[in-house]
Amino acid sequence: MLPTQPSAKKLGLVIDLDICVGCHACAVACKQWNEGGQFGPLPDENPYGRDPLGVWFNRVHTYESSSAQGHATVHFPRSCLHCEKPECVTVCPTGASYKRAEDGIVLVDPDKCIGCKLCSWACPYGAREYSQVRGVMQKCTLCVDRIYNESFEVEDRVPACVQACPTSARHFGDLGDPNSAVSKVVAARGGYDLMPELGYQPVNKYLPPRERKNQCGATGAKASLDTDIDPTALPPLLRWLDKALSR
Ligand code: SF4
Ligand code: SF4
Ligand code: SF4
Repeated sequence: MLPTQPSAKKLGLVIDLDICVGCHACAVACKQWNEGGQFGPLPDENPYGRDPLGVWFNRVHTYESSSAQGHATVHFPRSCLHCEKPECVTVCPTGASYKRAEDGIVLVDPDKCIGCKLCSWACPYGAREYSQVRGVMQKCTLCVDRIYNESFEVEDRVPACVQACPTSARHFGDLGDPNSAVSKVVAARGGYDLMPELGYQPVNKYLPPRERKNQCGATGAKASLDTDIDPTALPPLLRWLDKALSR
């Protein structure tokens, strides 16, 4: 169900593709938190077999991109984008999928889900995960059981993935408020929607990788050693390091 009177608040994530290093800490922290939280369990099925299955709310994909400027590796974390026009919600025959009026978070009520999988067909972002074990659809909850949890310190009331990210590539906040920190970083960095042509109006935004300058590969320049350095002019520690590495 979609809210008839949605508030202006749109909670979501902003993910910086420029500094994501593909470490998967966000995915692991997400699984750990949600496995033990009220939306768990997130089962693994045949985890060490040929065709491992399981439920992850957040997955990180890694791509190599090539262009005239050179080659680059892009790490792309993927989870529910909490869309404003989510067909995953409108196709649900039981009302199990719903979007909250108060903050725009899209959730699944496991007690109403019959596991028909229509919502996963309707999501173009591959953000829904069916649990073979539970027989219900699951997805990112924006850690709704963390972000409003008054037993936590205020600084800990953020999604597990945001808290875990070692490079601060993930930001959380109200994208409906143009003066929020997340809205400002989106405006400053040209944050964009995934596949806007589909009309789902994702709330989550991605910040594009910055252009790499003065780097081999990105510019097409050949790698070269700077041979103008005079090792004898270096400080003692660097002289020792230079000698050790030159052996
Ligand atoms: Fe629904 Fe997919 Fe959008 Fe999430 S990303 S709200 S599952 S359509
Ligand atoms: Fe997982 Fe929470 Fe991040 Fe969603 S917001 S991907 S549930 S850690
Ligand atoms: Fe990227 Fe941060 Fe996730 Fe690591 S934890 S994969 S750096 S978004």
